[in-house]
Amino acid sequence: METRVTDQSAPFASPQFINPDTPRLLLIDGQWRPSASGKTFSTSDPSTGRIVASIAEGSERDVDMAVAAARRAFEGAWRKFKPFERQRLLLRLADLVDEHFEELATIETIDMGAPITRTRGGRQRVVGLIRFYAGLATAIHGETIENSIAGEVFSYTLKEPVGVVGAIVPWNSPIGLGIWKIAPALATGCTVVLKPAEQASLSLLRLGELICEAGFPDGVFNVVTGFGNVGAALSAHPDVNKITFTGSTETGQAIIRASAGNVKRLSLELGGKSPDIVFADADIEAAALGAANAVFVNSGQMCIAGSRLYVEHGIYDEFVARVAEYGANMRVGAPLDPDTQMGPLVSGEQLDRVTGYMAAGVREGARAVTGGARLHGAAWSQGFFVPPTVFAGVKDSMSIAREEIFGPVISAMPFTDIDDVIHRANDTAFGLGSGVWTRDVGKAHRVSAAIQSGTVWVNCYLPLDPAVPFGGYKMSGYGRESGIHHVDEFLNVKSVFLKTA
Ligand code: NAD
Repeated sequence: METRVTDQSAPFASPQFINPDTPRLLLIDGQWRPSASGKTFSTSDPSTGRIVASIAEGSERDVDMAVAAARRAFEGAWRKFKPFERQRLLLRLADLVDEHFEELATIETIDMGAPITRTRGGRQRVVGLIRFYAGLATAIHGETIENSIAGEVFSYTLKEPVGVVGAIVPWNSPIGLGIWKIAPALATGCTVVLKPAEQASLSLLRLGELICEAGFPDGVFNVVTGFGNVGAALSAHPDVNKITFTGSTETGQAIIRASAGNVKRLSLELGGKSPDIVFADADIEAAALGAANAVFVNSGQMCIAGSRLYVEHGIYDEFVARVAEYGANMRVGAPLDPDTQMGPLVSGEQLDRVTGYMAAGVREGARAVTGGARLHGAAWSQGFFVPPTVFAGVKDSMSIAREEIFGPVISAMPFTDIDDVIHRANDTAFGLGSGVWTRDVGKAHRVSAAIQSGTVWVNCYLPLDPAVPFGGYKMSGYGRESGIHHVDEFLNVKSVFLKTA
């Protein structure tokens, strides 16, 4: 099947913020400043290879300065802010982000290649997250607890912000993933040093400007851009109290090791290889569309991608053909074009990774029903484009069925019955997302209970909500984002025993 293309050459306006002649600086203690080394690195538009900005390259010295500023703010001005005042600032930030969302979405699309319809579509979620945590800022409370101690001893708990938080994010959805860490940290009274991903820092740097404009005191929010060494320095820093990380499992493991020096608090949102299970009694049309979107959205660069597609054997051929047809009909192309459904991969490195897995799939005996190799030809030559890909005839043991590809690649496998599929769905190191498509409520319930993953979607895939917890089992990480308990990840519990007589 052929992939449809949108016009790569159409001119689309860039926001003023994207200007290669104006280097983007680090935010430390309320000031935008060059890195201590004076070094910069460039970031490019993955659909054209055009360099769009130069960015200050932070190092360990910048991390030290940012952490010192965050510590001063934590123990100084910010500590005196009452919950209502923190809430007011977060609500102001939500309004600013809402007002500037088109600009933020455009910057993100240019920087990391997600279609503009996707980045624009994040408005409700991103603004909603900030408002949700603004609400929680005034709802943090300890407990009074009846004890059995002899005499008159009153016991209660206090919830206190953990202190300086290092927030490290990947490139696949910078604003959404960044806000998911920044907003709860600020709601609880922590201060933040943010490390954006080197591949896509620009939208978070613009967010930094909006955070300053909202009126947060100097040093409460800092940004140190750069490479992995910046994240490593934050993770090992003796004066950082907590790291909240989203990224690969390998980096998560490095952070666990680095954090041991001062026994930091950690929350880790890591990789996935999520099963999406389709029973023969499902609404096949809805399931096929859902299974395709579960992977092809954002070019498959999603931790929750339902990339292991298990289909009940009686409908396997027909169902796989439908998913492949949907993929083949997606419009791949210039991400700023509102007709584009799938943009490029984020980088040449990611292109090599994804095409490497495509080649491995073929080598290991799978059959590409659609896609299966890099897109060639003049329209694609500058960018990192691959087509939506569906592999049939996949075995559980193949690398494309076991390893996270982080690209638009579906590995489709038939299953015989519910026990077979539960066993095989759980036979993975990961446990982030999962999907079940069936009209049988009992079957849906049984699979949901048996699946070892932090989220199960039944007859849908991908929806997330600020009020509903999200996180991983097994090597997909620990800690939960969203939900009213997310703020506890940024709080210490102090127990007080008070002898009253
Ligand atoms: P990555 O782990 O390579 O990088 C993530 C961030 O960590 C970047 O900012 C990077 O500079 C930084 N980093 C690199 N080395 C570091 C080190 N030694 N110490 C500290 N920080 C370091 O991940 P990526 O390739 O940018 O993102 C893709 C991965 O993220 C995939 O595995 C995906 O599944 C995962 N992800 C998970 C979730 C989730 O919620 N579970 C969401 C999105 C992405």
